[in-house]
Order: sequence, then structure tokens, then C-alpha cells
Amino acid sequence: MDRREFLALGLAIPFAGTALASVKPRRPPTTWFPKEFDCPICKTENTYLVWGSYGSYIYSWPSKYQLIYWPVTDGPSVYLCKKCHLSVFMWDHDELPKEHLPAIKKALAEVKDVPKFKEYTEVPMSRRLEIAEKVYKLYEKEDSFWCRFERIKGYHYQEEDKKAEANAARKRALELAEKMIESGSYSESLKEVYAISGAMRHFLGDDRGALKDFNKGLSTVYSGDDLTEEEKSNGEVNLNRYLTDYINRVNGADPPRDSKQ
Ligand SMILES: [Zn+2]
Repeated sequence: MDRREFLALGLAIPFAGTALASVKPRRPPTTWFPKEFDCPICKTENTYLVWGSYGSYIYSWPSKYQLIYWPVTDGPSVYLCKKCHLSVFMWDHDELPKEHLPAIKKALAEVKDVPKFKEYTEVPMSRRLEIAEKVYKLYEKEDSFWCRFERIKGYHYQEEDKKAEANAARKRALELAEKMIESGSYSESLKEVYAISGAMRHFLGDDRGALKDFNKGLSTVYSGDDLTEEEKSNGEVNLNRYLTDYINRVNGADPPRDSKQ
């Protein structure tokens, strides 16, 4: 799965598994195995994990309520070079834009206080994401990218019991979603952006605002310039199902929560 396919999955079928959520299947396995990589910055050989198996069930896991999906919820998905501390999402490791490599190298030279480690997964995800942020800031300009990045950061801060940092990241994700709605500029469908803003409001404790956004999402038609009619119709059905489920959960006795409170 390369980055392009990954984004396509995110656009086309993130909600395919929603119907399964209510039956709560035992979490099926995802598998990882080690592979050697040469660092594109310092040429050091690192052993990183690559995925072996997974299935569409990843879209029914609870992180869907934050609109992020495995593998970004899993520790191995952000690589960290043991020498120069290059930190990026796994699918970007071999695809870094060549023209930005000198600037990335310079930014990494300023990264301090990375603990010594044997396996990169020993370093907390939040720390790896903070370094990755310095790398991506050099060339990723789209609000959609950063909105997702902040949701991922929020998820992992929360997993590490850093509530204040999680809230701050989710606030930034919400601000970016609001900016996208206002400017009309996003790579998702507007319907999905309303789902994102509502989800962030819910996780920030504003359920009134969340329900408002989810209802706006329900009355917005799923669209996208590069989508086929079938993808548009699937997106409409899946997102309506997702939004309706979210509204029912927020109004019900078992609203979506972080796995660690
Ligand atoms: Zn390196």
C-alpha cells in the first residue's frame, strides 16, 4: 500500500466496516514483520516494521470515531532513525521529496533529547510525531494533511495519558476543519469534514456543537471531483450511516470515548 492508495482508501471506504461495529467482533489480527531500510538522510541502516496482514475490519475499530484508522493508531507506523532521528510515517520513508532533503537534514540536527533506543517503537509515538511534524512542516502545506496529523497526535497523546496535549491537538484539528469548511478548500468531501469537526467537538466535550456538525454532514451531499458515481453513492450511504451511528451514540448511554480516560 503506497501513500496514494492509502489516501484513496481513506476517501473511498473508511466507513465500510461501520455496520460491523455493533456486533463487536473479537479484534482480528494485524501483523508486522521487520525489514531493513537505508535512511534517506544519513544512509544508516535501520530495522523497521512493515505490515503483513490487515483487513477492512480496521475501519470498524473505535478510532473511527476520531476519523483515523490503523496503522496510524499503531506504534510501528512512524519510523525513527537511530542516528539522524528522521521521523516520518512509514509510507513516506522512501518517498521524501528530494529537493527538501537538505532542509530536513538541517531541521533534524536541531532535534535534541531523543532517548537512546534499541527498537524505534520504544520511543513514545507522541515524541516521534513531534519530530515528524518538524519534517512535514518543511513541505506539507494542506490543511487536510495537518487536520489529520493533529487527530493522530491527539489520539496518541491520549493513549499516553497526556490529556492537556491531546486536547490541544484536537483543538488544532477542529480549527483546521473549521478553516476548511469556511474556505471551501479540502481534499475530503465536505460531508466528511463535518464528520471530522463534529468528532473533534465531541472529544473536546462539546456535544451540542458536535450534533450540529453531524446534522450538517447529513444534509450535505457526498462529492469529490475525482470520484466515480459508484464511489459517490457508496460514500453517501456509508457516511450517512456513520453520522447517524455517531449521533445515536452521543445521545445514548455509551458515547464514543478514548480507550484511556
Ligand atoms: Zn538517519
